[in-house]
Amino acid sequence: MRTTAGSKILGDFTPPYESTVSANLWRDGAVMLGKLNMDEFAMGSSNENSAFGPVVNPWRAKGGEQKLVPGGSSGGSAAAVAAGLCLGATATDTGGSIRQPASFTGTVGIKPTYGRCSRWGIVAFASSLDQAGPITRTVEDAAIMLRSMSGHDPKDSTSLKADVPDFAAACTRSLKGLRIGVPKEYRVEGMPAEIEKIWADGMDWLRAEGCELVDVSLPHTKYALPAYYIIAPAEASSNLARYDGMRYGTRIEGADLTETYEKTRGQGFGEEVRRRIMIGAYVLSAGFYDAYYIRAQKVRARIAEDFKNAFSQCDALLTPTAPSAAFGINAKFNDPVKMYLNDIFTVTANLAGLPGISVPAALDNAGLPLGLQVIGKALDEETCFAVGGALERAACFNAKPGKWW
Ligand code: GLN
Repeated sequence: MRTTAGSKILGDFTPPYESTVSANLWRDGAVMLGKLNMDEFAMGSSNENSAFGPVVNPWRAKGGEQKLVPGGSSGGSAAAVAAGLCLGATATDTGGSIRQPASFTGTVGIKPTYGRCSRWGIVAFASSLDQAGPITRTVEDAAIMLRSMSGHDPKDSTSLKADVPDFAAACTRSLKGLRIGVPKEYRVEGMPAEIEKIWADGMDWLRAEGCELVDVSLPHTKYALPAYYIIAPAEASSNLARYDGMRYGTRIEGADLTETYEKTRGQGFGEEVRRRIMIGAYVLSAGFYDAYYIRAQKVRARIAEDFKNAFSQCDALLTPTAPSAAFGINAKFNDPVKMYLNDIFTVTANLAGLPGISVPAALDNAGLPLGLQVIGKALDEETCFAVGGALERAACFNAKPGKWW
């Protein structure tokens, strides 16, 4: 079946082999219904960067007619699950693309520990950050799907040799005595009061389950977004070099080889992908490598260290998933920085390689879903599922989008 990654440059490319995560799902009896839209090469937070047009969120604000984004980049997966077209969908998360769309659509999404799922057969964006995971309607469904998708794979050198626990069994585990960290740096300026409120509600729900809430600090949080938007484009500029119109995909002939490359890549890639390739090539260039790329790598190490320190005081962290609910189509499309800011709470887990789950917690005043995120220690998805399961039971989130389509 054709694979496009939401891009024109792949043309009619039909992969000659199966990805490990999908092969694992078929092995366990899953049935494929179809492929879903996404931001081009998974670059985006709104699914407006697809060459095939934007995905529309099945949710609408109360009394409103405006079409909203489903989040991104796995917006098609989240929207399809939210609309009840399927029970679950695969997705990838390089900087939040499973968790943020889950938050925007009232669905559950988990990005596992880096290396938990094989990246074999998944179109690469930023290889040191990319992870696959499920988007589902319930925490238990996410646990069942993730267990199937996970496991060591010799075909991916970063795949971890770790046993895959029974994630579903963890969903109903007692939380008594668990210490939950609340990072003070995630109280960002300008965050809507409603998000502050669901965060506080989440803390109360966990206290009622016997958790101890502890204040923790992740001091390098403010550098996470700039570091991510250097590292991810740098890796993307290298990964996307393979789309040259020679072996597969779209080719637009020019007078000579150089012009063929220029035309193919200039017309085959969309604007955001071209922007990332240029940023990536710039930060990797000889004159700027130390100032940007090396520095971002150092920040990345500090961020991982912050989490390590925090996890000496707690077992998991509770944060909002995103700083806003779903926004309107076109609302941020022409302002990349505004768009990037939506990833503020999600990119940190990718930079540190940690698992993070988003669980729907409430509807805001406009009637749109908001998610809470639980970040766990490396390879401790079970605690994410245990805390996520408790949040799900306490939130009793059973709202569904009104069917307008
Ligand atoms: N929104 C982020 C970006 O545009 C994350 C994307 C992702 O996780 N694939 O890079």
